[in-house]
Amino acid sequence: MGALPTGDGATLVGCYFPQSDFQRIKGDAFDAYLASFRELAPDLHARVAEAGPVDRLYGTGDQQNFIRRAAGPGWALVGDAAHHKDSITARGITEAYLQAQLLADTLADGVPRGAALDEALERYAKAHHDLVVDVYNSTLFVADLEVKDERLAMLRAVADSSEMTELYFSMLSGACSADEFFNEEFLASF
Ligand SMILES: Cc1cc2nc3c(=O)[nH]c(=O)nc-3n(C[C@H](O)[C@H](O)[C@H](O)COP(=O)(O)OP(=O)(O)OC[C@H]3O[C@@H](n4cnc5c(N)ncnc54)[C@H](O)[C@@H]3O)c2cc1C
Repeated sequence: MGALPTGDGATLVGCYFPQSDFQRIKGDAFDAYLASFRELAPDLHARVAEAGPVDRLYGTGDQQNFIRRAAGPGWALVGDAAHHKDSITARGITEAYLQAQLLADTLADGVPRGAALDEALERYAKAHHDLVVDVYNSTLFVADLEVKDERLAMLRAVADSSEMTELYFSMLSGACSADEFFNEEFLASF
């Protein structure tokens, strides 16, 4: 779950449930949100219960996970068309830009024709896969919604340190690498 400031002084709250629970939760989503907040984030529960909703809840039970072949003779895909993953890691927009940049860089010297174009697109398709596969795998791991003891200990160590909290969100957004975040000093601290 998360809470983010948005327009008009409102706060956007989001909550993830197993996709298989979608039909059950859809019937009374607000109560399901409150029950989760009550159990796992009591401060947030108090704020949401007091303020109430300013809009209806929006949700989806159809978060697909795939990496498609991103190019072929005369065509190329970028963004969600090429690669879709659960929104839980919030990386789709960032990665759509990275994919568009990769395609633009591949064709930076002008769009070749014929076989040269197909070769360039083949290079793009391979590089595209390498670009997205690591975050894709880590997203599937997070989307499992299984919080193992080791991960919980790591998250608690993050919460205890403002420096690690900043680095953690930098890693999630892609601004710093996982290696930078999981440095030796931090790994030894939990
Ligand atoms: C709940 C949720 C939360 C998310 N949160 C984040 C986040 O915090 N950060 C982040 O980086 N990403 C987030 N994402 C992912 C992100 O929204 C997508 O990865 C991103 O929008 C993909 O951009 P895109 O341009 O490839 O596709 P889209 O944004 O889907 O754009 C495709 C456009 O093409 C149009 N279109 C479709 N078919 C046709 C047609 N035949 N003719 C003309 N137009 C057509 C569609 O109407 C649409 O406007 C989230 C996704 C979800 C579902």
